[in-house]
Amino acid sequence: VKGYLQQIKQNAHLNVFNEVFDTEALTAAKEIDAKIANGTAGKLAGMVIAIKDNICYKGHKVTASSKILENFTSIYSSTVVERLLAEDAVIIGRANCDEFAMGAANENSFFGPVKNYADATRVSGGSSGGSAVAVQAGMCHAAIGTDTGGSVRQPAAFCGVIGLKPTYGRISRHGVISYASSFDQVGPITKSVADAALLLEVLAGADEFDGTLSQQPVPEAKNLKKENDKKKIAYMQEALSSPGVDADVKATLTQYIDKLRADGHTVKPISFELLDYLVPTYYILAMAEASSNLARYDGVHYGYRSPNATDLESTYKLSRSEGFGKEVKRRIMLGTFVLSAGYYDAYYAKAQKVRRLIQDKTNEILKEFDFILTPTAPEPAFALGLKEKDPVVTYLHDIFTVQASLSGMPAISLPAGNNGKGLPLGLQLLTKSFGEQELLNFSEYFL
Ligand code: GLN
Repeated sequence: VKGYLQQIKQNAHLNVFNEVFDTEALTAAKEIDAKIANGTAGKLAGMVIAIKDNICYKGHKVTASSKILENFTSIYSSTVVERLLAEDAVIIGRANCDEFAMGAANENSFFGPVKNYADATRVSGGSSGGSAVAVQAGMCHAAIGTDTGGSVRQPAAFCGVIGLKPTYGRISRHGVISYASSFDQVGPITKSVADAALLLEVLAGADEFDGTLSQQPVPEAKNLKKENDKKKIAYMQEALSSPGVDADVKATLTQYIDKLRADGHTVKPISFELLDYLVPTYYILAMAEASSNLARYDGVHYGYRSPNATDLESTYKLSRSEGFGKEVKRRIMLGTFVLSAGYYDAYYAKAQKVRRLIQDKTNEILKEFDFILTPTAPEPAFALGLKEKDPVVTYLHDIFTVQASLSGMPAISLPAGNNGKGLPLGLQLLTKSFGEQELLNFSEYFL
């Protein structure tokens, strides 16, 4: 804990944590030391973990990096925090993120952007940017993020670490601040596949507080083994042909395809006919759900209340206008628009149907192949401030990650070297729902 705290202090300029629980972490570590000594310690004993600041931890602030929750304290713990603590993890702090997890660069945080440890003039990725840099920079052993459309995987890729988005329904969302509830999943960010497997084992599984959770058996870390079987892998051909994908990313993907083939795996190009619909479908649905989820921040129940409000109407209007950031407001407005009478069928209902088609087509591919391989993101970490002005450019950045989110399937981002200029690159593997064991086993091949 002391070592991590020092690393956090030395790299304060990266803006990774919204709060560090220093004294508390030191005390917890001492208690766990005693448990280790008498043989009663849990599975995560000694594992120092950062949690994204949209995950509730009783008695601690949780802000979702928003002004509207700046002074809000959790009155209960999320299931994931309960499970981490029950296995004797040490929680070292609340990691910065995009406001309400909306973003892909961690530049939408009320507390300022998170900077990449590999190059502090570049973004960390988002929305779990603080969680990813915390692991990248050795400020903790592992971190917990949330992934709605890529927010664990994409920052992991930008930071050269591993990010796993489990199948929808694997890990409880109880006590995790909602963004888009039919997509949101908690996921671990780690340096090794073994740690990802261990955290999945601890966090996953039925919870009476989340009715969307599956009863499927949870993969156990002890079953993790490097696969020697020959696999069938599809790769997205557009990843190599599209002008929107960076040349170094293409070269890395090609290099891995060649290596997989040389090792006896079957690797074939596929063209995903719904590729152009992935990003629009995701954003219509995610914004619709966000506009509904964020209706609860009304200046009355909890969070920021404008000091200028004089009646109920102005309490709502001013608290929300002053409390939410620009991107969050944009999404609430677009979400409300696609849900409004007259536009519902044209946008929301249509997007739901396209989502089903995307799920069906993805399942079809996975009948023939074990995995779909893509880059995690079309380019490495970009310069801070570069994309802020055009949100659509940032949205398109999610092209490879939202397929798993729309179809509820598990996907992992694995480090795949760097671009020759020191910027990490990541590759993504996607597989069938509840195929985490196979996904993690095959991940070992890449490392
Ligand atoms: N970049 C995507 C978005 O802004 C994904 C974010 C996430 O997974 N939380 O919605």
